[in-house]
Amino acid sequence: MLQDNFGREFHYLRLSITDVCNFRCTYCLPDGYQGKPDSAFLSLDEIRRVIAAFAATGTSKIRITGGEPSIRGDLPEIIAAAKATPGIRTVALTTNGYRLPERIDRWAAAGLDALNLSIDSLDPGVFAAITGHTRLRELLDGLDRALALGIPRVKVNTVLLRGHNDGQIDRFLDWIRDLPITLRFIELMQTGDNADFFRSHHVSGEALRQRLLDAGWRPLIRGHNAGPALELHHPDYSGRIGLILPYSKDFCATCNRLRVSALGHLHLCLFSEQGIDLRHLLQEDAQRDELIAFLRDRLTDKKVSHFLHEGFSGGTRHLAMIGG
Ligand code: SAM
Ligand code: SF4
Repeated sequence: MLQDNFGREFHYLRLSITDVCNFRCTYCLPDGYQGKPDSAFLSLDEIRRVIAAFAATGTSKIRITGGEPSIRGDLPEIIAAAKATPGIRTVALTTNGYRLPERIDRWAAAGLDALNLSIDSLDPGVFAAITGHTRLRELLDGLDRALALGIPRVKVNTVLLRGHNDGQIDRFLDWIRDLPITLRFIELMQTGDNADFFRSHHVSGEALRQRLLDAGWRPLIRGHNAGPALELHHPDYSGRIGLILPYSKDFCATCNRLRVSALGHLHLCLFSEQGIDLRHLLQEDAQRDELIAFLRDRLTDKKVSHFLHEGFSGGTRHLAMIGG
């Protein structure tokens, strides 16, 4: 198992497969993707090698993310390759849901175990104002299809945004009364590019946590390997709530994840200054042991915290660079 100097074990890899995105979320890429569309992102073979090396060190869960991962035509092959890797038990995907109804069947057939769909508002107008797209109906249809297909874990990610959706919490709660999903409210994080937006739209998730507890929501008992999200359940609701409060004390104490960017850089933290290039160790299957030794060695540099609460937002300009 990969372990750092603080005793944290890493069994979860978030793997970005492209930086490109077709949405313009106000807090992430307000002007859309500005990089080169033909950037040399990891090939399917390189992706296989990353996953195999991590799996050999005890990683059991892979989340495929981006940018927008569904932009890649070989996404079904990537899901299938992750699923076929010995040791990988869960293959998850985070997506903005673009053309989800016509794509989800192939992803499910390829072996997808968990789907996280980003929906920041249930109001079509607000959704369009945040993402630049009028596709809310399509996302909701895709979500229904994912549930009908029996994908084992379906979650919705909602970034809490002052003035956009902080007044719509009751509407979200009504929505999950009979919908067996986990709705995860994520506190907006400050990145290099969104300082002004952060100042005007950040809402502390702590008040929401208290409000939910007062309304009878109760924390689930956390498993040994549970990550930083807090999960709540309520007897009157089929759905659950997840809270991701990156500014809360001890958020990093339960960190169980590492990240590899679409350019093949290892990120020890979402907010680390820069990635560590792995690409030279991804060119042949025979390099696996060398790659594993390199990963073990670099993990000793992982810091105890992201220091976000001290106003540090590191080298990450926006989360599309690294997958959130
Ligand atoms: N494009 C895909 C999507 O939006 O689901 C995957 C990549 S996106 C970077 C992953 C998640 O990070 C999304 O749920 C998004 O809402 C969230 N995110 C992006 N920027 C964020 C920020 N500054 N603070 C908190 N969450 C953010
Ligand atoms: Fe694209 Fe996801 Fe960023 Fe929105 S949050 S701009 S969908 S990468």
